[in-house]
Amino acid sequence: MDLWGKVLEKLRKLLGEGPFTAWFSGSRLLEHTGDTFYIEVRDSTVSQWIETHYMGTLRSILESLGYRNCNIVLKARETQFTPPKLTLPPQQEEEDIEKRFTFDTFVVGKSNMLAHAAAHMVAQRPGRAYNPLFIYGGVGLGKTHLILAIKNYVRENYPSLKVLYVQTEKMMNELIQAIKNGTTLAFKERYRGLDILLIDDIHFLSGKESLQEEFFHTFNELYNNKKQIVLTSDRPPKEMHALEERIRSRFEWGLVVDIQPPDFETRLAILKKKTELDNINIDDDILYYIASHVKDNIRTLEGCIFKILAYSSIHKQEIDLDTAREILRDIIKETTAEITIERIIKCVAEEFGISEEMIKGKRRKKEIVTARQVAMYLARELINMPLKEIGMNFGGKDHTTVLHAIEKIKRTMDHDIKLRKRVEKLMEKLEMHE
Ligand code: ADP
Ligand code: MG
Repeated sequence: MDLWGKVLEKLRKLLGEGPFTAWFSGSRLLEHTGDTFYIEVRDSTVSQWIETHYMGTLRSILESLGYRNCNIVLKARETQFTPPKLTLPPQQEEEDIEKRFTFDTFVVGKSNMLAHAAAHMVAQRPGRAYNPLFIYGGVGLGKTHLILAIKNYVRENYPSLKVLYVQTEKMMNELIQAIKNGTTLAFKERYRGLDILLIDDIHFLSGKESLQEEFFHTFNELYNNKKQIVLTSDRPPKEMHALEERIRSRFEWGLVVDIQPPDFETRLAILKKKTELDNINIDDDILYYIASHVKDNIRTLEGCIFKILAYSSIHKQEIDLDTAREILRDIIKETTAEITIERIIKCVAEEFGISEEMIKGKRRKKEIVTARQVAMYLARELINMPLKEIGMNFGGKDHTTVLHAIEKIKRTMDHDIKLRKRVEKLMEKLEMHE
């Protein structure tokens, strides 16, 4: 892969598909002389945005590839706008990137076991296991990885079979083009010759009535000839509104499987696998930290590793947990819920098995007093709430009473292990939004 290809791949990982496509699709390296990189981007808006948001990132990526202290000059392309998806990445880069997605590099856990097994079966016995295979699940959970794993498996084990992977949007664009140019026959011809058709993100078909008809014919023809079809989507067929009923029902003819967000063990296993594959050295406690905070998008999990790497290569230092927390603050803040006084009171009430009103009230029963004091302590420790404000949330106590309550909990935790465990559990729960 050439230099710019590598930079793009890292950017894609770091930013995620959406922002990456928005700002870097269609970009290319024009020239690289001495320390200066001339990069062409789509237009002046994009150029400005990259200038203000991504220069640091670009620089650290280049540094991680061995180009220290470089200059980056952005140039806006002044020609007519072309749709990003069609111009990037070029065929070869695309193929290189795709090769990484195999069954070997896919970590299997409870959340994706069925989807993995079905995809594997289809790859081994195309057209004879489940047809069509429909895989659905949220963003960044491995749908594209699995569907490309099928492609790579077939390429390797059944080289004579014709397999095509296509993104729905791209297929739609081609179809629109074909209709415009009067070449729909050629379009159909291309698909008719296939043994295996892998269509990614079929939910984009919803609402595009005129295209559904054409799609329906292509689908039927392949299906009737026992050709394998695999589809991925962000939702199950029954939730694909604005989709013709006959198409929807056809998606359900074969097997419909979902991918759920991974549990902690799977997240950790994925992180370990990634570091192993890329020969990366990151402490286990950092991997634990990432796995316990980033929960519902595997692309974000990978982004964390990449960010740490970029940082450590610039600063030439080993990264410890505290530094990692700092580096990952932006990413992880997004995925954890904000801690509020309401959430604290709710969690404490649950933990002590009493009502929220009791915590906020004035009753002097020992268990209730302890719960109340714990809630005050947490408000101070976790959100740094001013003493006066804490008092207002607990029936208008003055700040010395609040201070006394907090000190009391601190002291008690020194010798009362049970209480300390309870408080720690609460902190973890609040920080992890569970
Ligand atoms: P989706 O298509 O569902 O949005 P992707 O297939 O693009 O998600 O996955 C996002 C990233 O997470 C990819 O880099 C992929 O390799 C990785 N990934 C997802 N699931 C797994 C898994 N089970 N094991 C290893 N990597 C995974
Ligand atoms: Mg995808």
